Amino acid sequence: EQELEDEDESDLEIRPPVVTVVGHVDHGKTKLLDAIRQTNVVAGEAGGITQHIGAYQVWTEHDGIERAITFIDTPGHEAFTAMRARGAQVSDIAILVVAADDGIMPQTVEALNHMQAANVPIVVAVNKVDKEGANPARVRQQLTEFGLVAEEFGGDTMFVDVSALQGKGIPELLDAVLLTADAGLDLRANPNKDARGIAIEAKLDRGRGAVATVLIQSGTLHVGDAIVAGTAYGRVRAMHDENGDAVEEAQPSRPVQVQGLSTVPRAGDTFLVTEEDRTARQIAEKREAVERNAQLAKARKRISLEDFTRALEEGKVESLNLIIKGDVSGAVEALEEALLKIEIDDSVQLRILHRGVGAVTESDIDLATIDNAIVIGFNVRPDVKARERAQREGIDVRFYSVIYAALEDIESSLKGMLKPEFEEVQSGVAEIREIFRSSKFGNIAGVIVRSGTITRNAKARVIRDGVVVGDNLAIESLRRFKDDVTEVRTDFEAGIGLGKFNDIQIGDEIETIEMREKVRA
Ligand code: GDP
Repeated sequence: EQELEDEDESDLEIRPPVVTVVGHVDHGKTKLLDAIRQTNVVAGEAGGITQHIGAYQVWTEHDGIERAITFIDTPGHEAFTAMRARGAQVSDIAILVVAADDGIMPQTVEALNHMQAANVPIVVAVNKVDKEGANPARVRQQLTEFGLVAEEFGGDTMFVDVSALQGKGIPELLDAVLLTADAGLDLRANPNKDARGIAIEAKLDRGRGAVATVLIQSGTLHVGDAIVAGTAYGRVRAMHDENGDAVEEAQPSRPVQVQGLSTVPRAGDTFLVTEEDRTARQIAEKREAVERNAQLAKARKRISLEDFTRALEEGKVESLNLIIKGDVSGAVEALEEALLKIEIDDSVQLRILHRGVGAVTESDIDLATIDNAIVIGFNVRPDVKARERAQREGIDVRFYSVIYAALEDIESSLKGMLKPEFEEVQSGVAEIREIFRSSKFGNIAGVIVRSGTITRNAKARVIRDGVVVGDNLAIESLRRFKDDVTEVRTDFEAGIGLGKFNDIQIGDEIETIEMREKVRA
């Protein structure tokens, strides 16, 4: 539709409808696709062998005119839905097959839900009417409940009785498809431009290399065109149709099997023609880089509270694993107890894999990596190696200094009530190398900034061996030599006065903290 809006009305020409066949298992989808193929009024050229390429076109006489219909030759709604998940809308119309003896079954409902969700109009094929016990009227009756009301009952859904086995009712079914296409579906495309479309099936052939069946959605594809399909690119070396016949050019709604791509695209990948080979390759490489990054990010991104909450909302949840480290055992126990009391849905399990006193260590991160856990540091920080490893593995490590803040964060995440969250961001870390006694300012820490920037306005925290010994401290003085400064960057030395807080030792770290609104992925 988007595409149509960009087009000049006068460039648009009618294109054949593209149809998917769906329904309950064993209701005759495959048989019906075979029967339809056999009614084709235009036979393949002599010598052609019928091939499964994922889609085929049939020609049928409708109102005295020969018209084409494209069928996706992969029965079932699963392939349709998988392609849709990639953003590809392949079908214009769905044929819902219901066996007249069985009536509506679970997958009938599932399939029609999928089609209705995608806004695809449905034609009902009431199959197996040749069978004893067939009850086509009951099928019509049953489907009214799902909003599919037969025309004879005053609705606008077309029902056609067929026997795929005997090839009966097929022309009527094709007529119904074309009537549905003509009534309200504006199936037009501009054939006079570079082709665009969707890959619907692809494989690696021993002799021919990558072969992909593509469905042209607009424009015309020619042998010799430079194309990019997903992350595959190349020049169209040859095209074949479902009869194995060579094709020179393919117009909208035509499925063709294409040779010449560098690799095998996936079903649902979009393809387009580019002016030059180079451009096709560049687009493919760009797409590949984007994809690789997304995959890496996914692999690295272990479960976070946000992911967990999302999984909870989507109803696919296992357990939330936690590792708790704290400065004193009383706090760790209190936090553990409080966390286990959070009331959550039965489908959710909160498991505390490990608890302990002391800094967050590498082995905590390793455990979190294996068991997909979130690490909570209560008044403790990770040591340098743990910090690096957590970053590399994408482990969610959260720091709190009050129990209720930890509880609130986890509880609200669990319940999916994510308000804008603020998180502490470490803006700088400095190491204490000397201590000067000053009668006026108290103890002054002579430091070197190890990372980030120490800023005068930030809150400071003193950390000794990974444990927070002073928190929420104001920086009362920040100096370089004799000058007052507002910030000191990495690798520079400075003097820091923390006012009344005098419990500092050589080797301690002073980190500065800023509160920032949390960015969610
Ligand atoms: P699918 O699972 O929906 O693809 O179903 P199939 O096409 O594989 O058909 C399932 C079974 O029903 C097969 O044994 C078919 O021969 C049979 N069948 C399909 N259509 C008809 C029909 O119109 N009449 C009768 N009697 N049997 C049919």
